[in-house]
Amino acid sequence: MTFFYKNFNISLVFNIKTFKGDIFINLFGTKRVCKTLSILLFFLICFSGYAQENAHISSETQQWNDPLERADLLLFSSHADDEHLFFAGILPYCIANGIKAQVVYMTNHNDNPIRNTELLNGLWAVGITNSPVISPFPDLFSESLEEAIRVYKSRGVSEDDFIAFCTENIRRFKPQVAVGHDINGEYSHGTHILSSVALMKAVVLAGDPNYHSESFEKYGIWDTPKTYINLWKERPIVLSINEPLVFFNGKSAFQVSQHGFSYHKSQHWTWFYRWVYGTEQAPITSSTQIRIYTPGRYGLYRTLVGDDSQEAGDFFENTLLIKDIIEEQFEEEQIIDIISIYDEQEKIESEKQYLKFLIPAFIVLAAVLLLLLFLKKKSKRE
Ligand SMILES: [Zn+2]
Repeated sequence: MTFFYKNFNISLVFNIKTFKGDIFINLFGTKRVCKTLSILLFFLICFSGYAQENAHISSETQQWNDPLERADLLLFSSHADDEHLFFAGILPYCIANGIKAQVVYMTNHNDNPIRNTELLNGLWAVGITNSPVISPFPDLFSESLEEAIRVYKSRGVSEDDFIAFCTENIRRFKPQVAVGHDINGEYSHGTHILSSVALMKAVVLAGDPNYHSESFEKYGIWDTPKTYINLWKERPIVLSINEPLVFFNGKSAFQVSQHGFSYHKSQHWTWFYRWVYGTEQAPITSSTQIRIYTPGRYGLYRTLVGDDSQEAGDFFENTLLIKDIIEEQFEEEQIIDIISIYDEQEKIESEKQYLKFLIPAFIVLAAVLLLLLFLKKKSKRE
């Protein structure tokens, strides 16, 4: 291959076997710019290889929408990764079934920005495309509710700030179903417990116009029909998260969440990794293989629409999803359209009938007038 660069005739002899193999054997003939060009080309090839490998997840390919206007399900996750671990299966299940799910994080990871990137990549990988809501509260470690309240107080955040934050999001997204952490914080994480307690209080307070006037004025009140708490013992339910889903090419909702956690590399050193993936000899492919904090086991903590039946495999029994409401509205609109078309046709028909009567009447009248005129003229001549 020969390039002409200004007055230099630069001979380039490519000997590329693979993109990652021995690229630079006899690459350039000679003369100036060659070295610079070769270095640039090398980086370009390396970068294009890297870009290709990461294309499916690069921020350029992620086109995030605004948070939902209204959600079927509101998931309160304490940290970036809990949505794929203790709440494993929920988000892919929703995506595969056309259920609108909004994620709200109770803490942020602004002090560890890589976790914010992992958060978005993980959500995107399980099919979420609406931006999550992330609280202004920092991620602080504690091992009980009391300790959590104390450590957050030392950073200027009160328990009521957590409750008000939950309340605001409930009023904003008006969900049919709210889902929160285990009251024991799964593995006794203080922030998980605080999040659980805050949600339990918020689902009641969100319906009270006297609580937190700021969000009341913005969004009004909302009384959430169903609230589920992870691992809650009363009115238990087991989600169907291990069935193969056509939407995810045969992967189960649980397996898609496992894939979501694969993007949280900064957390792979923790015990969560083995808990959710198992070992090479005994890999976990179903949530039923997990002995403690088994994902998919919830309890109906609060309900305005009655208890679930035994066989319910999801959160949405006795509720109406947004897609169902839209379908109903569409059908109603179609009925209204049909009625108005019918009315219009009836109007045209009655006009036709009217014309049918009017035209002969007009002809008769004209004939009578002509006759009268003829008689008048005849009498004048006589
Ligand atoms: Zn957590």
